[in-house]
Amino acid sequence: MKNFTLHSHYDVIIIGSGPAGLGAAFKIAENSNLSLLLVEKKKISSGGLRNDCKQNYTFPVGFPYEHWDKKSAEPLLREVAEHLNPKIESRVNVEKYIKRAEKIGVEILAIDQSHVGTDKSSELIRSLLEKLEALHVNIALQTEVKELSEKAKELSLENGQVITFNHLIVAPGRADYDWLQEQMNRLGVSYCDNIVDIGVRIETKEENYPIVRDYYDPKILFPNKVRTFCTNSGCAHIVREKYKGYYSVNGHSLSKENERNDLVNFAMLKTIRLTQPVVSGQQFGKILGEMVMQLSGGSVIMQRVGDFRMGSRSKEETFNNDLYDFEPTLKSAVAGDLSLCMPAKILRDIWKALKMLDTIIPGVLHPSTIIYYPEIKTYSNKPQFINDHFMVKEGYYIIGDGAGTSRGITAAWASGIRAAIGILDKR
Ligand SMILES: Cc1cc2nc3c(=O)[nH]c(=O)nc-3n(C[C@H](O)[C@H](O)[C@H](O)COP(=O)(O)OP(=O)(O)OC[C@H]3O[C@@H](n4cnc5c(N)ncnc54)[C@H](O)[C@@H]3O)c2cc1C
Repeated sequence: MKNFTLHSHYDVIIIGSGPAGLGAAFKIAENSNLSLLLVEKKKISSGGLRNDCKQNYTFPVGFPYEHWDKKSAEPLLREVAEHLNPKIESRVNVEKYIKRAEKIGVEILAIDQSHVGTDKSSELIRSLLEKLEALHVNIALQTEVKELSEKAKELSLENGQVITFNHLIVAPGRADYDWLQEQMNRLGVSYCDNIVDIGVRIETKEENYPIVRDYYDPKILFPNKVRTFCTNSGCAHIVREKYKGYYSVNGHSLSKENERNDLVNFAMLKTIRLTQPVVSGQQFGKILGEMVMQLSGGSVIMQRVGDFRMGSRSKEETFNNDLYDFEPTLKSAVAGDLSLCMPAKILRDIWKALKMLDTIIPGVLHPSTIIYYPEIKTYSNKPQFINDHFMVKEGYYIIGDGAGTSRGITAAWASGIRAAIGILDKR
């Protein structure tokens, strides 16, 4: 990236170079001469754009209904596609699965998707940043915003430098929810957080889940707010992500040029909306994650379906026996007992959904299938927005997964466009 000296003032500053920040940056840079600074604390933006990078181009995937409808999302999805140039995956032979699903009250959504792959995504991000630089955007990587001022339109960086702005777009993603909460407290913006997705990640042989040969990331909706999420195949791996106080599992896959390992992984998530007196989904998720840390000696747990069905814990010495004929890709997971660490209601709903899935795609509950836990998605500090452009206070916009305006790459990018339009309209 080009070297430059940070100015003391910008018309617009964007915090976070995830898809939400990038969407806003492109919209503003391509449609105005406003001076623009994009600040990112990491070397390269984190999140899904950097990992796997599956892009969904069909509403409502990734778009929370409270902020979006088909009419508002679709034109912006077209704009996202102009920048990300997706190669839409083919989707064939899914009718038989859809019919089977319908019979038992399950819905399979037909979604336009593309997949970049973890090994290719940093190339994509670099090319996007270069395009922004060519549009005269200042990009400060490895530069952390420490805090926003409650008194003036200014922010301070970790190194002590203070920069003023006319408009600020805050797009820090969901991992930094507590930082965002602090800033909203400083600005006097009210917010609530009450939704969390808790679930498991399934790993099995591709032959046990052949639907992925026809539909890369099948979006399947089960009763009780359980759904499949983020399916990976080809050269697929499970990873452990560090959050504050716990680990969550996640999955990704490499691009098609890589040697296949013939495994599939996908999440089964249940959305939980907490009501009074407990209102923090983020805290609830953290407590569940911490409990797994206790029970696994500081990691995440995994259990074979065969053991789970028998009500016995998986053990290290039995994990690869007999029918258990493939090795887990997440070596740091600890063989254990799912039912000891998961709240009964969540476990019941997810297990029921898995049985339904096994009816639609027989084989997925083969005894060797591994269930990893926990996969926790904390979402939003839902700020109180004062207009349709996600403005929370004159000149301040909060967008992306951290603000609950999106749940995925394309919707996050679209949120950025919407905030940017708010700023462009004000000129
Ligand atoms: C491992 C993984 C895989 C995923 N895979 C997919 C996928 O395949 N498809 C999909 O649609 N979604 C995926 N997701 C979800 C997707 O990443 C998010 O929906 C999307 O990235 C949200 O965009 P965002 O811009 O709101 O936040 P983010 O992408 O999280 O970006 C926020 C950025 O802000 C930076 N930041 C935070 N605080 C500060 C600060 N104080 N100063 C400066 N910078 C700061 C962070 O470093 C980060 O780069 C995945 C998520 C993860 C974690």
